[in-house]
Formats: sequence, C-alpha cells, structure tokens
Amino acid sequence: MFSKILIANRGEIAVRIIRACKEMGIATVAVFSEADKDALHVSMAEEGYCIGPAPSKDSYLNMENIISAALVSKAEAIHPGYGFLSENPVFSDLCKSNGLVFVGPDSEVIARMGDKDAARGTMRQAGVPVIPGSGLLRDVDHAREEAEKIGFPLLIKARAGGGGRGIRLVRSADELAQNFQTAAQEALKFFKDESVYLEKYLTGVKHIEAQILADNFGKVICLGERDCSMQRRNQKLVEESPSPALSEDTRQKMIQTSLRAAKAAGYRGAGTIEYLYDKDSRFYFMEMNTRLQVEHPVTEMVTGIDLVKWQLRIAAGVPLEYNQEDIRFSTHAIECRINAENPYQGFKPSGGTIALLHTPGGPWVRFDTAIYHGYTIPPFYDSMIGKLIVAARTRNEALRKMRAALCELIIEGVEHNADLQTDIMISEEFESGNYTTDTLERILKKN
Ligand code: ADP
Ligand code: ADP
Ligand code: MG
Repeated sequence: MFSKILIANRGEIAVRIIRACKEMGIATVAVFSEADKDALHVSMAEEGYCIGPAPSKDSYLNMENIISAALVSKAEAIHPGYGFLSENPVFSDLCKSNGLVFVGPDSEVIARMGDKDAARGTMRQAGVPVIPGSGLLRDVDHAREEAEKIGFPLLIKARAGGGGRGIRLVRSADELAQNFQTAAQEALKFFKDESVYLEKYLTGVKHIEAQILADNFGKVICLGERDCSMQRRNQKLVEESPSPALSEDTRQKMIQTSLRAAKAAGYRGAGTIEYLYDKDSRFYFMEMNTRLQVEHPVTEMVTGIDLVKWQLRIAAGVPLEYNQEDIRFSTHAIECRINAENPYQGFKPSGGTIALLHTPGGPWVRFDTAIYHGYTIPPFYDSMIGKLIVAARTRNEALRKMRAALCELIIEGVEHNADLQTDIMISEEFESGNYTTDTLERILKKN
C-alpha cells in the first residue's frame, strides 16, 4: 500500500479522500489555489502546497505545478477526485512518466471513453445497446443527412462534453441548421474540440447508471445501479439506489451488460456506465465516466463497500476480494445534492460566508461537505457545497429519513437548494418512483 498520496482536488471530495487515507494509514498531501488557503481539505491533510491563483486553469488544472508538489512531497500516487484532471489522459500519462501512480484507469482507456463517439463504437462492438445516433459530423449538410435517417427531435452533442454541458436540443431541420455552427464553436471553446455528433432525443426516460470496480488481474464486479433521473439542466440533483423502476430481471441484465462493457473497455479502477432507460424496460448506453462519481456514497451505503478505499487498493495492485455473488444490496439509499444556488432564479449561483451551520445526524445519515461555520465560499468553483445521504431498510423509510434530515439541515449566509430538495422529497412524482429526467422542470413550474 502507498505510504503517502497527493489529492489533486478540492471541496468535499478532497475531504472524502483524505478521510479514507487516514483510516488506511496513508499520509496525505493537499494542493490548493490562492482562493482556497482556508479550505477544509488543506487543514485536514498533513501537508499542503499552493499551486496557483484562483482560476481552475491556473491551479487545479495546472498539471506541472501539481506534479511538482507530488515530487517535492515524495507522494507515491495522485488521486484526482472527480471533475478537474480526473478524466484527462495527458495528466494520467504525465503522472506515469514522473514515476507517480495515477489513481484511475490507463490513459488509453480514459481517452477512448472520454471520446463519446469512440466510446459508442466500442460499446456497439461489445454488443451493448447504444442510443441511436450518428458518427462525428463533417458539416451542416452531413448533419442534415444523418438527422433525416435518425428523425427529430435530436441532441447535438460535443464529443468531449461533460458536466451537463455541450448538449443542444434541436426539433427540426431548421433548428439543426441554426444551431450546428454554434454548437461546434461552443464545444471548441469549452472542451478544446469542435467535434459534434447527433443522438436521438429520448423523452420520458430515466438516467440509470451502473457502478463498476475492476482490478489489475482481470476481475470486474458491478455494484448495482443508481437512479439519477432527478436533474436540472442535464445535471443530477438527487440519486438513489436501487432504482425503484428496475425489475430484478432488468437489474441482472444491466449488471451483466455493464460487466461486458467494462471488459470491452479494458477497464481498471472505479468507473460508471450511464444508460437511458425507457418505458419498455430497454436501456441504452449513454457514456462511461472513468472516475469516482459525485454520487458514489449511495452505492457505498447499499453495498457496505468503501469505493475510495478500493480505488486506492486497486491502484496499489491489491486484488479485489469480492466476487459478483458477494455483492448484496441490503438497504435503500438516497442522496440530495446541496448546491449554493437559487433554484427559483434560474439556479443562479450564490456566494457568501457561512453564518450558521447545523448538519443532520442520527443513524444512517451522512453529510459529505467541506464547509464550516465562518467559511467563505469562493466564487470560482462548483456550486455544490454538500451531499446529504441517508439509508434505510426500505425506500419508504429512506424517504422519510431524508425529509427529516433536510428539516434538520441549517445553512445560513448563502442561498441554497435545501427547500427545493424538500419539495422533491414530498412530491408525488418522487414518491411514486416513476420520475424521469424531465420531471424536475414540472415540479419547478408548480412551485
Ligand atoms: P457525476 O457524473 O459524477 O454525477 P457531474 O457530471 O456532476 O458528476 O460532474 C462532476 C464534476 O465534474 C462537476 O464538478 C462537473 O462540473 C465536473 N465535470 C465533469 N465533466 C466535466 C468536463 N468535461 N469539463 C468540465 N467539468 C466537468
Ligand atoms: P455529461 O457528460 O454531461 O454527463 P451525458 O451524455 O451523460 O453528458 O448526458 C447528460 C444528461 O443529459 C443525461 O443524464 C440525460 O438526462 C440527458 N441526455 C443525454 N443524452 C440524452 C438523449 N439522447 N436523450 C435524452 N436525454 C439525454
Ligand atoms: Mg453523464
């Protein structure tokens, strides 16, 4: 096992990784931007290095400075968390060439899955059903031709998109022509890659994803699914496991398909395969995330398996000690993301200083956060300030626990979305379990 690692991230996920390291007896090195010198992850780690000014591109995306910090501190590995450099094959390679272990899959795998078009090809070849769509588009005429074959409505998707960005809905040939250039230009601006492709826009569908763990010795296991259909602007707001919509039969099918997909990708480490699931119980591959997911605690709660510890063990060459039959889903877990934003003003991000903080407690209640009383939220990064996760024997009990926990949560000094989360938790749509990716828009209109 490693004796020291560097965490190339900030916020709740850096804190989460440091906690796992402490339990495992691994020393930790934090990196931080000038805006983050008072951040919790910095005070929790044994060592800390400032890696640049506030903007992410100068600090948390500054590969050279991060590698230097790792070498100076004699860290043996780098955990990239999620976002930032976690899905960057160049960074993964740079770690390797500097003698550092990157906690994640090989750069070729990251590159192959991060290219959404190539990933669709790999999955199709492995016999995994893929959302109908096109290959990469040469120009607007090519887009029109392909659109005719697939049929409207369609999404124009950036090959390198992520974080809910780089997706554009078009309902007609005219809209496609109007949006094609802007979509490509935006993709170039945000993802440094102008390539786009088309995907059939599926409505009334659920986002269901499968959690994978694969070791260095060819063993792959699937830790079940998460239902992430409660979304705003293609970004997840609530996640639960198991999905209330899957029959046991379909679950087993999804597990088998995901094992096949991970093997086809040559996967190693923790990863997630995202699907859209339709009313006829069919599921289609959407993308693979080659990293730890924001909502991983939901899976940890239902399986009792610590995903971060296993990421570290796998990276250190430890074989998985579970077989697929050992994986049991003993409880129901729900996660609500707490974002510093105003849901009723177009999800406008909110900054400020935490004037009062009370976090919920009790059995099977978990609050993952990096905020504390008196902490000032810097305006440069993600708006997510915490994740509230609960688990119970049944879905109904978990739902009641989440409502109670949300009532207990007090965060003053910034605007946040806890009231919206309560509205979701008491809505008929959530309670029924039949909610789809467009449900939240309807709940918002009602309130
Ligand atoms: P998950 O897929 O784990 O639920 P998200 O899609 O919300 O998580 O993304 C996790 C984090 O990574 C967020 O902070 C998001 O903004 C960021 N992120 C993900 N992909 C990209 C990307 N390609 N470019 C920039 N940020 C990204
Ligand atoms: P990202 O890399 O940003 O996470 P995804 O391809 O995973 O992008 O899509 C993000 C979200 O957008 C999905 O969770 C889903 O709600 C919606 N979405 C993506 N593709 C489709 C599609 N073909 N039809 C309908 N909704 C889609
Ligand atoms: Mg996605």
